[in-house]
Amino acid sequence: MINALDSDLEREVEERSGEKPRLCYQCGKCSTGCLFNFAMDILPHQAMKLIQYGQKERLLSSHTIWICAACETCTARCPNDIDVARVIDALRAMALEEGVKPAEKRIPLFHACFLGNIQATGRISEPILMGSYKTLSGDLASDIGLAVEMLRKGKIKLIPSLVRDRRKVRHIFKESKR
Ligand code: SF4
Ligand code: SF4
Repeated sequence: MINALDSDLEREVEERSGEKPRLCYQCGKCSTGCLFNFAMDILPHQAMKLIQYGQKERLLSSHTIWICAACETCTARCPNDIDVARVIDALRAMALEEGVKPAEKRIPLFHACFLGNIQATGRISEPILMGSYKTLSGDLASDIGLAVEMLRKGKIKLIPSLVRDRRKVRHIFKESKR
């Protein structure tokens, strides 16, 4: 049975995502098509059901919300036109805002480094991104061989390419936080 608290979660997800998880009829097409379902603790169709049941804590502390790569395969496969990827994105944003300890510690850190890099230079620079991620994660040693190999083959540019008008990039970030 769905109580008042449960409908609060549904309402919040609906407001944030513009989607209606309550319309999900559990066909499972989203989950069978998900390329990362093997690594998830809650499958996408199960997440829809848990939203209906108001299982906020379980959802926000799940591995799934961080494992999801926002590839939108689930969204494309849903016969009910539910943007499942957008719903999961809303759960991720809620977890961040509510300070829930992420079940996958490194993924939010990678997201933060990625966005920090874009904000600073307007483009992704592999040495800056990997340098900041490796330093902040404390995992300096792994992947060194791969990095050297990529540098040797010219797959990584040491000098970052900058967007000319970086004020516009900063403005976009500022506006997105409103
Ligand atoms: S968007 Fe996320 S949940 Fe949907 S198919 Fe891609 S990885 Fe799976
Ligand atoms: S594909 Fe759509 S209707 Fe089917 S289980 Fe997933 S969200 Fe629900």
